[in-house]
Amino acid sequence: MCLALAETDDLLTAADDPLPASLTLPEPVPEAAELLRDALVDEPRPVPRGSRGAGETGYVRQGFRPELDVLRESALKGREWIAGLEARERDRVGVPSLRMRFHPVHGYALEITKANLGRIPEDYERKQTLANAERFTTPELREMESKVLGAQDKAAALERQIFEEVRTGMLEFAAAIREAARAVGQLDALQSLAEVARRDGWVRPEVHDDARLEIRGGRHPVVERLLRARGGDDFVPNDADLDPEGARILLLTGPNMSGKSTYLRQVAVIVLLAQIGSFVPAEAARIGVVDRIFTRVGASDRLAEGESTFMVEMRETAEILSQASQKSLIILDEIGRGTSTFDGLSIAWAVAEYLHDTPGLGARTLFATHYHELADLSRTREGVHNGHSEAREYQDDVIFLRRLVPGQASRSYGIQVAKLAGLPEAVIDRAREILHQLESEEGVAPGSKVPAAGAASVGPDPQLALFTPARSPDEDATLAELRALDPDRMTPLDALALLSRLSRSLGGRGDAS
Ligand code: ADP
Repeated sequence: MCLALAETDDLLTAADDPLPASLTLPEPVPEAAELLRDALVDEPRPVPRGSRGAGETGYVRQGFRPELDVLRESALKGREWIAGLEARERDRVGVPSLRMRFHPVHGYALEITKANLGRIPEDYERKQTLANAERFTTPELREMESKVLGAQDKAAALERQIFEEVRTGMLEFAAAIREAARAVGQLDALQSLAEVARRDGWVRPEVHDDARLEIRGGRHPVVERLLRARGGDDFVPNDADLDPEGARILLLTGPNMSGKSTYLRQVAVIVLLAQIGSFVPAEAARIGVVDRIFTRVGASDRLAEGESTFMVEMRETAEILSQASQKSLIILDEIGRGTSTFDGLSIAWAVAEYLHDTPGLGARTLFATHYHELADLSRTREGVHNGHSEAREYQDDVIFLRRLVPGQASRSYGIQVAKLAGLPEAVIDRAREILHQLESEEGVAPGSKVPAAGAASVGPDPQLALFTPARSPDEDATLAELRALDPDRMTPLDALALLSRLSRSLGGRGDAS
């Protein structure tokens, strides 16, 4: 890094455009760079720690420490002498297949095949026996080997010591390096934003002190790139308009998979990017400064801390309601999912009312919900506007257009999405049947209206209708008869006759014979 700093400095000095005054430029640390350049080779191998690193050599630059160079030279000379010994011994012994071998544990040895063992000279000392050969050493080889290995060990130890010295030496520059690293990090982040802005056609946002938020043709930077990388559909840009004096809550309904979460996140990301001084993925953006961005997105739990998904969801919502101000941006991606339908709907409804009605709050809010009923709020609250992601039904399937349009969604298309996700056909068919039944039962249809705040009854619980299938009068009568009987007072024959009659009355075969 110290070496790269000098290059960074050159690049910055050569830049055409003036650099922003607020930018802290990295200060090169030439002494540190010099120490590293002098002491280490250009491309040192990463030194493994521990015992494997103990013998690691070759990373200290030639010429840095004469003592090390002498040791290396003597080890090299010794190895050359040993290499030459192979040819000399072949001649002396008269065995052309004689080889000099090196083994990390046993060291250097002259290897002779078993067939040639009869020719070995007197001074050969047996060192190792292999399947087809024997390995030997000689007094002069042993002496040279110990010189070579000794020099190598000493060189390795010296390199290690030099490395430690360099490391300690670098500590002196630690503060300066940290400062420079921070400045380089900042430059890196800014230049990355600049690069992405140019590559992906981002624009310079207008950032104002009021609380209006206007985005034209906004995009989610990551989803857009992913879609492009997959070669699928293009990302569909969408606008956003929020204003504490006017439409401050946008209630987004619409099918799952229609793009609600993406939209919510893209607005938050654009605001965040604008406020850190970046260009933004949009055609145009006018951002009234936000003091904080609050998000309640996704499902998570903290079971180890005794908090269920619903508890976490509610706790996050509570924090938002207590901390948000008129200058905040709030992103609520579903509230009240983790509980029963009417509970959840009631909570979501009350949260939206609170955000709208509380004096001095009125934060700009994007609220995605699968409770279509919430859309009714816009009738009584002028600051609540409805929007939905367009979807079209085609035969039995649904096509998402990903375009945000005003007004509430007409359908939730949950079953079509389940079909797209690959649920078995039998489950899809049965779900359609149940939906049809629910929709035709008055008072429990999923689209049934929630009364305005203050009204009392909310009608029968739709979950009951889901799990209690309708029964015929015959079935009811049979159940009543079964409940009334006392099996202890019946003879086996009576029981059989009764069973047969009940079975017949329910349309069974009732054959008791
Ligand atoms: P929802 O929250 O309504 O269930 P998501 O926001 O999770 O939907 O979007 C589902 C998928 O749709 C995303 O993973 C993305 O691939 C695609 N998508 C979302 N918004 C867009 C868009 N504006 N243009 C193109 N594709 C989109």
